[in-house]
Amino acid sequence: MASNTKIQWTSQTWNPTTGCDRISDGCTNCYALTMAKRLKGMGQAKYQNDGNPKTSGPGFALTLHPDVLDEPYRWKKPRKVFVNSMSDLFHARVPRDFLARVFAVMAFTPGHTYQILTKRPERAARILGDSSFAAAVETAMYDDDAYATLARGGLKSWPLPNVWIGTSIESDKHTRRADALRATPAAVRFISAEPLLGPLESLSLRDIDWLILGGESGPGSRPVESRWIADLIHQARQNGTAPFVKQLGSAWARNTTVAGKTVAAWGDTKGGDPQYWPNGLRVREYPATP
Ligand code: SF4
Repeated sequence: MASNTKIQWTSQTWNPTTGCDRISDGCTNCYALTMAKRLKGMGQAKYQNDGNPKTSGPGFALTLHPDVLDEPYRWKKPRKVFVNSMSDLFHARVPRDFLARVFAVMAFTPGHTYQILTKRPERAARILGDSSFAAAVETAMYDDDAYATLARGGLKSWPLPNVWIGTSIESDKHTRRADALRATPAAVRFISAEPLLGPLESLSLRDIDWLILGGESGPGSRPVESRWIADLIHQARQNGTAPFVKQLGSAWARNTTVAGKTVAAWGDTKGGDPQYWPNGLRVREYPATP
């Protein structure tokens, strides 16, 4: 399968918007924010708008990119597509009409599976749960001249069967995001507990299909404890949720010794190679899809 990303649980990224603003502890070392600064310096056109220095940064102002909306039409083979690896699709400054256009593209390309991850699930629940939004998606389908003839008959089903909606939960303080996710119509609901900053004792996995777990990587990364991950795998098993451990993070890799050397010294600086993990953490499962 073609891939333009190193993210283990997807095969393709697609960024109809770029830029964002930090909203919680999980955003402290946002890789997209750091990457945007670098891409701005390299002169990349999508990263020339500066965000608020208090919450965002150089090249990271929320910006719409209608010119990339047609990218998925060109991918001939089915792909798993992470929507907005460099942004948050449900950021307050992404207009509802633009969201409808993004969903229209996803409706037109049912062979691809789209994974949307947000730290703003309350807005996702409000918009996707409003029946007038499905009508707005249909309108956007008819408005697209190139595909209007395919839109005959309108949306075949809602929510779209090829769109997974997820929310990030980094600490126990934010487990209510799972409630907003449960209130969001979606074919597959998932939680990304990455970077995991503490045990998620109050998290309910009811109606959650997939759980991604991971420690933080990169400069200044905060440590994860293996038992937090083991507890969540156990809870996922009891609930019928598919667990996927992505990585144990840079702090774990620096501080864990295998065969006389740290994991980082073996070359795995992010703790992403399961061969070094404790047995019980070596799980990478995907949800059953509709
Ligand atoms: S919500 Fe996501 S993209 Fe936005 S600042 Fe936080 S980590 Fe970065």
